[in-house]
Amino acid sequence: MNEVDIAVVGGGIIGCLTARELLARRPERTVAVLDRDSVGSGASRRSAGLHFPRGATGRVRGMAAYSQQYYAELSSHRPELPIHQVGMDVVGAEQTVRRSYLASARPTPATAGVWQVEGGQYADVSGLTGRLASELRGGAVVHEGTGVTAIGLDPERITLALSSGGELTVGQVVLAPGPWIAAPAWRELVAPLGVRVKKVVALHIDLVPAPTDRVVVFQAEDAFLLPLHDRGHWLFSYTCQEWGVDPDALGEGLSDQDLGDALAVLRAVAPEYAAHCASGRVFCDAYSGTGEPIVCPLPADPRVVFAGAANGSGYRLAPAIAAQAADLIDIPFLTSPTRSHA
Ligand SMILES: Cc1cc2nc3c(=O)[nH]c(=O)nc-3n(C[C@H](O)[C@H](O)[C@H](O)COP(=O)(O)OP(=O)(O)OC[C@H]3O[C@@H](n4cnc5c(N)ncnc54)[C@H](O)[C@@H]3O)c2cc1C
Repeated sequence: MNEVDIAVVGGGIIGCLTARELLARRPERTVAVLDRDSVGSGASRRSAGLHFPRGATGRVRGMAAYSQQYYAELSSHRPELPIHQVGMDVVGAEQTVRRSYLASARPTPATAGVWQVEGGQYADVSGLTGRLASELRGGAVVHEGTGVTAIGLDPERITLALSSGGELTVGQVVLAPGPWIAAPAWRELVAPLGVRVKKVVALHIDLVPAPTDRVVVFQAEDAFLLPLHDRGHWLFSYTCQEWGVDPDALGEGLSDQDLGDALAVLRAVAPEYAAHCASGRVFCDAYSGTGEPIVCPLPADPRVVFAGAANGSGYRLAPAIAAQAADLIDIPFLTSPTRSHA
């Protein structure tokens, strides 16, 4: 197939859910998902995959509520999917917790300064993405090991040059590249969006969680302790402030500095865990300038819709991002630059 209606570039959780949404709305259209690696191998593979029922702005709270409902329905129909409900305690000031958490989270005081909230879950994001991609096959073409090396924006058609040497002709594109914002094929096209890439680090704690252990969210520190019941250890996520990183240059794993910085925060919030961590996961994610994900047509050509820059929340907000991207793809006047200016 060298011609399709829509190409989704990037087969992470956002790209795969967008392809799923596009086909759910109109199964007759042809969709290709292209990934230079395997599906679910980018930021999605390293994700802690925690869903908090919260948002710093009204738009993000709306997206969190939509996504929570989406994942709840998905896992109730498909209990074998790697999405796990987990209890959640939030350490934070009452005003902040009540303002940022969804009403459905029903914050309830537990002990002084600790709030129990409902609606937390976590996923093996890579495993989930792989399962979603396998279900796409048949409805969509999934091209793995196929990088997009250039995007040709002809008024009549869009041509994607592929690393395999071929070309794919498409009517519209959803660009879901995760942290590969600076890929040569779209660096100039996405530059006006002002997306930045930040390192994300989480420590693995070699303690086996008890079945009833709950997530602890440290609101002020923007950190959390997550019992990964499925993997048999805890994870500590904190906010690393290393900006401007290149996803292709992060292959060395956890550095001394990462470990030291993460341990300093862990010792401050939960010192009893600090003696048990010497390993972890390091990657990066795309961040917008506003704290909200970016889902918009590209200024240079509205037939190309960008979906991502979810600020370290790309798993939990992916269903809402996918729905918004599909909404934009389905706006008739966005199908060609000529018509958009009419
Ligand atoms: C350590 C860590 C912990 C995290 N924890 C959480 C969390 O607890 N909760 C949460 O909600 N989020 C979390 N995140 C963020 C979340 O994982 C990401 O926001 C999300 O996975 C992004 O999904 P994506 O589909 O946009 O990107 P990706 O999963 O990175 O997918 C992008 C894909 O694009 C492909 N690609 C790149 N260039 C090309 C090209 N030229 N041609 C074709 N394909 C290309 C890549 O191979 C990749 O597979 C975490 C991230 C990290 C790194």
